[in-house]
Amino acid sequence: MILRPLGTLLLLFAAAIYLTPSTANALPDTIRVDVPEKNRQQGQFFTVRVANTSSKPGLWFMERSYAMFRQPDSSWRALVPVENLTKPGSYAILVRTDSLEQKVPVLVKPNNRKIQYITLDPSKQGIKATETEKTRVKAALQTESPEKLYTGTFLRPSSGRTSSLFGLKRSYNGEPVTSYHKGIDISAPEGTPVKSSAAGKVILCGTVGEGFHVHGNTIVIDHGHGLTTIYMHLHTIKVRQNVPVQKGEVIGTVGHTGISTAPHLHWGTYLYGTSVDPLLFEGKQY
Ligand SMILES: [Zn+2]
Repeated sequence: MILRPLGTLLLLFAAAIYLTPSTANALPDTIRVDVPEKNRQQGQFFTVRVANTSSKPGLWFMERSYAMFRQPDSSWRALVPVENLTKPGSYAILVRTDSLEQKVPVLVKPNNRKIQYITLDPSKQGIKATETEKTRVKAALQTESPEKLYTGTFLRPSSGRTSSLFGLKRSYNGEPVTSYHKGIDISAPEGTPVKSSAAGKVILCGTVGEGFHVHGNTIVIDHGHGLTTIYMHLHTIKVRQNVPVQKGEVIGTVGHTGISTAPHLHWGTYLYGTSVDPLLFEGKQY
């Protein structure tokens, strides 16, 4: 008689284990939100993972919504950018599904990048970005394709030394700071091959002739999941718009078209249209 309730309990326990997978859809989400690095600097990004949810989660950071993308293991992920001029301090990442909401406290730290004083060649002074280049570049960099086109580590797109870092605040010809450097500059002789840093699709080829007076000859590649890369001041462009490219494929050559003081490649990496430090990608895998 003592064994009977125990036997019943064991039976119920076994039944519960057995039934869990088949009834999972009927149960409320038990979402798991993972933000491995909660302290990030300006110009870096948060990796946000959400598991155990049947529907696509909503994600917000600083009152902006970010699309999450499905991963091969059925979890969801987003690389959430911290804009370079974000005020350092405490913030929260908010994740919401149909039934649950979770807030993850995060910290944005200053990157202490200096002000760079740039003197432009008098012949290039007064050159302003045209509407064409502003509109086309902005639209390309905001691309959020649902398919992930890249795998493996990211390549440095050109040989040569880094002559300017990401995030430096910029003053042109002694004027007040109005912008910051949205990529890194790689100094290299004109004609040095420029390679795609990861697989993707060419979504913009813009030329000086089309009005790219500031950017110079420019390529933007979409890698999917909100990630794009830009290659500026090119001497030549060797790919066409809307074609797929492989990691390491030569897409153009180094030049100094547009606003540029000497031959170099400007390489930028963007998440959801916000520039983040390309050195976070070089040799890394996401
Ligand atoms: Zn640059």
